[in-house]
Amino acid sequence: MKVRILRQDDPVSKPYWQEFLYEKKADQTIAGMLDELNYKDDIKDITGKPVPRIQWECSCLQGMCGGCAMVINGTPALACETFLRDIKEDTVVLEPLRKFPTIADLVVDRSVIHENLMKADAYIEEYKGYNGDGYEHMYLVGRCLKCGLCLEVCPNYKKGEQFYGAVFANDSYFISERSRTMPGAAKRSYEKHFEQGCSKSLSCMEICPVNMPTLASISAMNRK
Ligand code: SF4
Repeated sequence: MKVRILRQDDPVSKPYWQEFLYEKKADQTIAGMLDELNYKDDIKDITGKPVPRIQWECSCLQGMCGGCAMVINGTPALACETFLRDIKEDTVVLEPLRKFPTIADLVVDRSVIHENLMKADAYIEEYKGYNGDGYEHMYLVGRCLKCGLCLEVCPNYKKGEQFYGAVFANDSYFISERSRTMPGAAKRSYEKHFEQGCSKSLSCMEICPVNMPTLASISAMNRK
């Protein structure tokens, strides 16, 4: 099968397409396929020209780190959870997430997610212990990978604007529940950086690889 990758040598150079040949294995994932292409000492493109190794990011290869989020045949997803058997097209097309600056090839800079939390003063300064309420919801929210897929598909999220997206709604809920000193700030930040910008398309919920209960977080924060 053909693999088409949007490559970029560094953050400032122009992106370009490069194609590779790969012998399709139905049970292989996109992440495994990228690993195999990179294993070869002499990685060559489809024309036989030697090319640099494909840069992409991963840590766990089991859907727990979120590092390998990319756009796969037009759909944002984790490369380690996307199997070749589920790709119906003859060609696999890989692009970096579009809402984040590209560092190189399929690696993007997602630091904006954490920068937004800091800008909104949304952090736990003094931890409030568990009091038995809402444990399950908090546990689910705590699994956020910060992969950025929810921001990639959100019709309202744009870098640099004051709407921070689903990841922020879930973090606000967690912080407002667990911070002894910051609940007021978390609620005010939620109003400014989430509530005023969300149009409830809920595409974030469909795309999230860990099924984050974003709607429940929104409801809980709106109640507060
Ligand atoms: S809410 Fe889901 S899609 Fe968004 S960053 Fe967290 S894990 Fe990724």
